[in-house]
Amino acid sequence: PEQNTTLDKGDEKILETEKVVGLSEKLTFQTETQKILHIVAESLYTEKEVFIRELISNASDAIEKVRHLQLTDASKVEDNVTPFEIKISCDEDKKTLIIQDTGIGMTKEEMIKNLGNIGYSGSGEFLKQIGENPDKASIIGQFGVGFYSCFMVGHTIKIYSKSATSGSKGYLWESDGAGSYNISEASGVGRGTKIIIHLKPNAYEYSKKATVEAIIKKYSNFVGFPITLNGHAV
Ligand code: ADP
Ligand code: MG
Repeated sequence: PEQNTTLDKGDEKILETEKVVGLSEKLTFQTETQKILHIVAESLYTEKEVFIRELISNASDAIEKVRHLQLTDASKVEDNVTPFEIKISCDEDKKTLIIQDTGIGMTKEEMIKNLGNIGYSGSGEFLKQIGENPDKASIIGQFGVGFYSCFMVGHTIKIYSKSATSGSKGYLWESDGAGSYNISEASGVGRGTKIIIHLKPNAYEYSKKATVEAIIKKYSNFVGFPITLNGHAV
């Protein structure tokens, strides 16, 4: 039989191989955060695709931070070998989109502080303007809601993260955006952060490779680290 000399260019998806260790702890979002999350999750904002830009920008910031720490105080970084990269994976069967970075990661305390409380100072003004304006979508577009934008497309968000600082454990943060989130210790977590978005039915398009690829290309021109989609460079 003839040998096929070309390499298999099939999709290589990111798997969820991490395992929860022990019991999970249930925590509630700050009141202001709950309100914003609810507005974002229910919003009819049409440019939902910006969540990909927000997650890539967070991934890039996180890698920049670990790169800086390695240059200034390498002894604080446990793993100085893992390459700097942003891996994205979408799965039409599972209806998921995953974005993984090998950045600075988060400790448990950082997950609570950075993801459980609204991460930007404009939140008060955001709520004020939303309250006064019936066109909530335009306010969301104006302000941008960072990480929380993934609740526009996801019914459940799972985040595995391990801080790059020596001796850190891995954790799973999980939420459906409705008031509370759960945190548990997890094994098998690599340096950095892996965000798994379980897509809402009206956002299944973000599990399609062609759609996701076009969005990455649109927003990632200025990202200084390599990005792959289902194992292929974008
Ligand atoms: P901003 O990027 O403007 O700070 P975000 O809502 O996008 O606001 O993110 C909130 C915070 O969550 C970030 O400042 C960072 O501390 C943390 N964070 C988000 N994504 C990541 C990530 N991929 N790796 C490490 N930390 C992250
Ligand atoms: Mg951000």
